[in-house]
Formats: sequence, C-alpha cells, structure tokens
Amino acid sequence: EYDLLVIGGGSGGLACAKEVKLTWFVYFTFFFFFLGTKWGLGGTCVNVGCIPKKLMHQAALLGSALKDAQILSLSALFLFHSCSSSLNVRLCCFLPNRKVKYFNVKGSFSDPHTIRGLTKGGKETILTAEKIVIATGGRPKYPIHVAGALEYGITSDDLFWLKESPGKTLVVGASYISLECAGFLTGIGLDTTVMMRSIPLRGFDQQMASLVTEYMESYGTKFLKKCIPTKVEKLESNRLQVTWKNTDSGTEETDSFDTVMWAVGRAPDTKALNLETVGVKTNSETGKIIVDAREATSVPHIYAVGDITEGRPELTPTAIAAGKLLAQRLFGQSSELMDYDNVPTTVFTPLEYGCVGLSEEKAVQCYGSDNIEVYHAYYKPLEFTVAERDATQCYMKMVCLREREQRILGLHFIGPNAGEVIQGFALGIKCGATYPQLMKTIGIHPTCAEEITKLHITKRSGLDATVTGC
Ligand code: FAD
Ligand code: NDP
Repeated sequence: EYDLLVIGGGSGGLACAKEVKLTWFVYFTFFFFFLGTKWGLGGTCVNVGCIPKKLMHQAALLGSALKDAQILSLSALFLFHSCSSSLNVRLCCFLPNRKVKYFNVKGSFSDPHTIRGLTKGGKETILTAEKIVIATGGRPKYPIHVAGALEYGITSDDLFWLKESPGKTLVVGASYISLECAGFLTGIGLDTTVMMRSIPLRGFDQQMASLVTEYMESYGTKFLKKCIPTKVEKLESNRLQVTWKNTDSGTEETDSFDTVMWAVGRAPDTKALNLETVGVKTNSETGKIIVDAREATSVPHIYAVGDITEGRPELTPTAIAAGKLLAQRLFGQSSELMDYDNVPTTVFTPLEYGCVGLSEEKAVQCYGSDNIEVYHAYYKPLEFTVAERDATQCYMKMVCLREREQRILGLHFIGPNAGEVIQGFALGIKCGATYPQLMKTIGIHPTCAEEITKLHITKRSGLDATVTGC
C-alpha cells in the first residue's frame, strides 16, 4: 500500500516523482513509478522526441554552416551527429534519491486503487496506492485506412533508431514533427518530400507558417500540397511506391521512396490502462483524459499530466511543470495551479520559428482587427549577410492591443536561434509587457533579437518593413 503511484516515466511522470521525494520523511513511505517497455527511462522527449530531434537539427545546421564556412574562410567546423539516448537519460533523468524506485513494467488499473504491472517477460506485480498519477504520454498514429501504411511506413519513434540512412523519404503531415524531421533530413543531404493535405502548422500564425515552408522549399525540401495518400506498396526493388490523390487537380499521382514516415498526429494509449474499469473519463474523439485545473480526473484520487491530458500543449516543459506542481499540491507544499497561458514554443525547422502568445488570426478573432496593432520587420541576420545567404523569410512580428498601453498579445520570430530569442521575451510577455516598455528595452548589438526592440513599422501603415542599416 503506497501513498502515490506515478504511471509513466517520461517528462511529466519523472518531474512529479522527483518533486515528491523532497518531503519523503515527513509524509510518505514509498513512491513508485512505472515506465513502458518500449524505450528506457525518460519517455518521448529523451528517447524519440525533443532531444534526438534537436541533435539532428543541429547536425543539419552544422552541415549548412560548413557550406557557409567556405565563404567565411573558417578552417575547422566539425559535424557532430549523435543521438545516444543513454547519454540523454543519464543527463536528464537520473533519479537523485535512491529511495525513489521505478519498475520497468506496463501498468494498468485493476480497480481504482490497484495497478497491475507486467514486465516484458510477463511477470506480474500488484501495487495499491492512495493516489495515482497517470503520465503515460502519447504515441504516433498510423493512418490505418491507407493500405500499406502500417506494414511499410515508419513514424518518428523509429526514425531516431534507424541503423541505416532512410534514403529518399516521404514525410506525411505538415505539423511540428513532419516539418522538423523533413527539415533535418534535407539538411543532412537526403531527398525529402513533405505531403501536406491542408495547411502547414495548424494552430500557428499562418503568415509565419507560410514563411517556414517557403524557406524549406528554398532549402531543398519538396512539398506535395493538397495531397492525400491512398496506398503504399512494396516494389520488387524494395522501394515503396506511394499513390496519392491531388485534391486540387483531382488526379491520382505516384512516386517511389526508400522510406515513408507518418507524422499525422499522436494519440494516447488509454485503452491499455483499462480506464473504463475505474471510471476515468476520456474525450471520446481524442481518447485523452479529461482533467480540471488541478489536473484531477473524474475519479477523485486519480490525476493526470502531460500529453495524455485533453486540451494541454504537447510539450515537455508543460508536462514537467504540471507534474512538479501537482506533486507539490498533493503533498501540501503549495496550492499553485499550472498556468497554461503564454507558453512559448519553437518549431525547429531549418529556419527556426519561435513564438509566444496569440497568433495574428487569433488576436483578430478575440479583439477585432480595429483593436489590434501589428508591428513587423523583415531583417537580415549578420551571419547571412557575410555568407551571402538569402534572408527573404527572416521576419518578425509583434501583435499588440491598440489601446493606449498597447499590451503585447503575441510575438513571432523566424530566424536563427528562435527558441533562444523567444525564451527571454516570454518572461516580459508573461509579466504583461507593453509595446512602449519593449521600446525602452535596449538591444544587444549585433544580434537578431535586437530587431525586436526596434520594431516600429505597423502593418496598418503599409510601409516597407525591411530593416535597413544599423
Ligand atoms: P512521455 O514523455 O511520452 O512519457 C510517457 C511514458 O509513459 C513513456 O515512457 C511511456 O513508455 C510510458 N507509458 C505509456 N503507457 C504506459 C503504461 N501503461 N505503463 C507504464 N508506462 C507507460 N516538446 C518540446 O517541448 N520540444 C520539442 O522540441 C519537442 N520535440 C518533439 C519531437 C518529437 C519527434 C516528438 C514525438 C515530440 C516532441 N515534443 C517536444 C513533445 C514532447 O516530447 C512531449 O510533449 C513530452 O515528452 C510529453 O511528456 P509526457 O510525460 O506526457 O509523456
Ligand atoms: P499534429 O496533430 O500537430 O499534426 C498532424 C499533422 O498531420 C497535421 O498537419 C494534419 O493535417 C496531418 N494529418 C493528420 N491526419 C492525416 C492523414 N490521414 N493524412 C495526411 N495528413 C494527416 O501532430 P504532430 O505529430 O506534428 O505533433 C504532435 C505534438 O507534438 C505537437 O502538437 C507538439 O505539441 C509536439 N511537438 C513539439 C515540438 C516542439 O516543441 N518543437 C516538436 C514536435 C512535436 P491537418 O492540419 O489537415 O489536420
């Protein structure tokens, strides 16, 4: 009989378990958390998500930098390409307290307080607990209605574990995972195509999303727009022949690839948890667990955090923060709720796109276009100038309320190191920064981020937004 069981040893589950150990002697006996058998400790982020993805992205950028280096006359730049998950596990997810234990078992509910854990070999462990946290994340979806999709396709889970180059690759889908993977595959020199059925980066500012894909096209990624896959077949040559429908022209088209990767969204594996038995409510469409602001499910002592929860961002830092705060609340250390507003994020495409707050479309929808002021600029990073790289898509915009104070509602930045740039400004926006305050912020010269502190051309003015000179 334990006080707390955390099911899932990924970002959210680990953060929750690690936080609780602080009060070990004061309140509790034991803590257990389970992890799935697919990969080691650390969940999606460390094994098949953020970390290997960022390393591949970096490898691809270094490839481009090597090209620049010839122009810049730099003598030594080395391409370091490593996706060792064991290193990442050691770096990110070590258990700092030997009293925190974990079992490498797959957990499912037998009754509201009992978890049945099964090892890979089928050995059973039964544990009961007063409180239970579900943090089992999501897994990539396959479009099973497409013939051959499951048999011949791979997902991002597989991509980072391939022993050989994927070769000529078709990536289906047009969101974060698709564009990021297609970006680094192109960057390391592979013939890469993205199949997009509708718009890129749904939910993001669409002007920015178009610039992201435009840059990718100029970088060498091919795009099949308004296309829907219909079947995948294996040819005698072992290549995969993909057939799709072009919904613009109504025609059926086909091409062959070495690898087909599905990036058509992720879904939680709630069935395996046996949630119906205990009455934990899920969204019937998405399968995700419905939680309230306290991360509480429909069953009073069962909680859920991270990708498994309905309506939350599918991001590592939000899973971690939610897991930590939940542990603090469960054990009386704090009553603070997780704040999901103004979560910054970055899409690690060849030209990165970072943002925080509302898109221009969302701001217009919420406040009306007459009440919104958008400041924008096309700028040229210094390193692009020297290396004579095209900077057509290096763009930023700030969406503000139009009233006297001009509170900033959203900030969008496309360019090098967008994640680093947006992370800092996110603090200001979280604190309610206004346009005049931003204008009083002194830039750091020469950086790309300093251009944000100089934004002065409004979209409404129609003036040329290209930054000129220093
Ligand atoms: P997970 O990290 O998925 O952990 C869930 C764990 O639970 C897993 O170990 C799983 O095996 C285990 N589990 C599942 N079922 C059971 C069971 N029945 N019993 C026991 N254990 C179980 N986010 C970012 O912020 N930045 C990025 O750059 C980024 N890049 C990404 C790139 C890719 C390719 C992908 C796929 C995702 C990326 N994400 C990124 C999203 C991020 O990885 C997730 O939001 C985050 O890992 C969610 O954490 P979690 O704890 O909810 O779930
Ligand atoms: P999304 O659900 O965001 O996007 C799925 C994409 O696949 C959409 O473009 C969708 O098109 C398309 N699609 C869906 N079904 C089909 C189909 N049957 N045929 C063709 N296309 C299809 O999923 P992702 O997997 O990209 O990302 C999941 C989450 O992971 C993200 O929301 C993000 O939070 C997280 N993540 C974060 C990263 C980061 O922080 N940098 C990086 C990677 C992931 P349509 O728009 O038409 O529906």
